[in-house]
Amino acid sequence: MHASKYHINTLKEAPAEAEVKSHQLMTRAGMIRKAAGGIYTYMPLGLRILRKIENIVREEMDKAGAIELLMPVVQPAELWVESGRWEQYGAELLRIKDRHQRDFVLQPTSEEVITDIARNEIHSWRQLPLNFYHIQTKFRDERRPRFGLMRGREFTMKDAYSFDRDEASAQSSYDAMYDAYMRIFTRLGLTFRAVAADTGSIGGSRSHEFQVIADTGEDLIVYNPDTQYAANIELAEAACLIPQRGAATDALNKTSTPDAPKCELVAQQLGKPLSDTVKSIVLATDNPDDPAQATIWLLLLRGDHDLNEVKTSKLEGFENGYRFATEAEILDSFGCVPGYLGPINTIKPVTIIADRTVANMSNFICGANTEGFHYTGVNWGRDLPEAKVADLRNVVAGDPANDGGQLAIQRGIEVGHVFFLGDKYSKALNATFLETDGKPALLQMGCYGIGISRIAAAAIEQCHDEKGIIWPKSIAPFELVICPMGWHKSETVRNTAETLYQELKAQGVEVMLDDRDVRPGIMFADWELIGVPLRITIGDRGLKDGIVEIQARRQEAADKVAVADALQHAL
Ligand code: ATP
Ligand code: MG
Ligand code: MG
Ligand code: MG
Repeated sequence: MHASKYHINTLKEAPAEAEVKSHQLMTRAGMIRKAAGGIYTYMPLGLRILRKIENIVREEMDKAGAIELLMPVVQPAELWVESGRWEQYGAELLRIKDRHQRDFVLQPTSEEVITDIARNEIHSWRQLPLNFYHIQTKFRDERRPRFGLMRGREFTMKDAYSFDRDEASAQSSYDAMYDAYMRIFTRLGLTFRAVAADTGSIGGSRSHEFQVIADTGEDLIVYNPDTQYAANIELAEAACLIPQRGAATDALNKTSTPDAPKCELVAQQLGKPLSDTVKSIVLATDNPDDPAQATIWLLLLRGDHDLNEVKTSKLEGFENGYRFATEAEILDSFGCVPGYLGPINTIKPVTIIADRTVANMSNFICGANTEGFHYTGVNWGRDLPEAKVADLRNVVAGDPANDGGQLAIQRGIEVGHVFFLGDKYSKALNATFLETDGKPALLQMGCYGIGISRIAAAAIEQCHDEKGIIWPKSIAPFELVICPMGWHKSETVRNTAETLYQELKAQGVEVMLDDRDVRPGIMFADWELIGVPLRITIGDRGLKDGIVEIQARRQEAADKVAVADALQHAL
């Protein structure tokens, strides 16, 4: 590739809205351009990176026995109604109508379509196991699209779906994907950790996330450096019910007993928006001084309220726009029975112990000690104050899965997720096969996602400097750039550069020759920003002594190499 015939357009400044390095650097390097919030054009350089990531993922999926197909982005609502997700998914699911007013969705994942394929294609145990995957555009109408490719609304995901005869065989399929993911993220050149993850509404214990370690990550992971234990803190929190709301935390601590012998979730809302009419959630107690005697209420507030008003008003005014959540509402909003909440009809003055606006909430978990019947803890979502992180270590140490020892906490970016589904979807869509005895049995399923476009951003978060991006060689848009000094003036430089370029190309190296008429300073700055791992500089001065300069992106100074050795040195 000759740069003069390619499209390179670097920017001095990043857009003001770009909060994290990957967003800033990808925009400045001309890899992405915004079309709308969370929706980007992958510019030529950006697309090369995505294709590299895709190819590594594809190779390892194929090696692991998965079979590629391609499912549609636009999917009929009927299948989503059948699975129940048309109702359950909430606002992240983009629903559209065609000209005949028929409902469709833009796929956020493809469990429905693949299960429909499976029920039509798989007839006999002889066809199993099977694992289908595709690499396709996804759409999720994220509440807060931000950080560029990290949390887009339109993004590229690899999603695979395994089908097995029974649980034991499904476990083997899961393990094969887990192993493939280990190989994929190693080949991508990323520092990552596989962590146990929350299985949310599906339940069961088999779910792992693959987290790229980076300070800007939105997830917190806890791990024990001495053992195998590593978990997303969402899981650890669900197990231990850690109170973690900044200002309210002190109050919560007074009424919480993190070491309670038995905790149970009383309400859980993970990524699922509350009903439109609920504006905020309030936890209140009628006896803050003696938690053992206290009753705790969960209140769903319907409007904007002065909490003092709520506090002093004995909570009788059911008509005044706030009221206790009814069992049915909690069931509806959280999908679980509020068995341990205070009696709905008790009227007493209360003390607010925590409150949260629904709009700012990505997760909500509330727990209670089933033995003392008092309040245990609440998790309001991801935006954990940094100061609380240290405190969490002690609490998480109580997780039964962690067999003792000091725990460490890191931030991570979720780039992959493997999930054992069991018969959740096969049951809903009646996807069966005939067993050896001729009787129909439900397919056992697993699903396995990788955020292709998010990986590009995660790699940058993990590796950059003040000059720009530092790509791992495996996913760099070009492996090497030749920078001729005086291309337009010196025939010797031109010939040497062009010969080396052809030789490198013949060796299969993805090489860029920068034949643009720009000053050396600008040329170097561009390629440092773009993050090409290796640069060869060719100039008359060096050529007089028969040398060129070769410098790795991470290297402080260049190596002087004889022209004759340059090719070997660069390979
Ligand atoms: P998150 O917790 O970050 O919202 P998720 O758990 O909702 O992610 P999954 O449903 O597990 O995501 O999807 C599989 C993978 O798709 C994730 O591991 C992540 O790499 C990627 N992904 C999910 N949401 C986005 C997004 N909005 N933008 C880019 N990649 C995403
Ligand atoms: Mg999500
Ligand atoms: Mg997640
Ligand atoms: Mg996930």
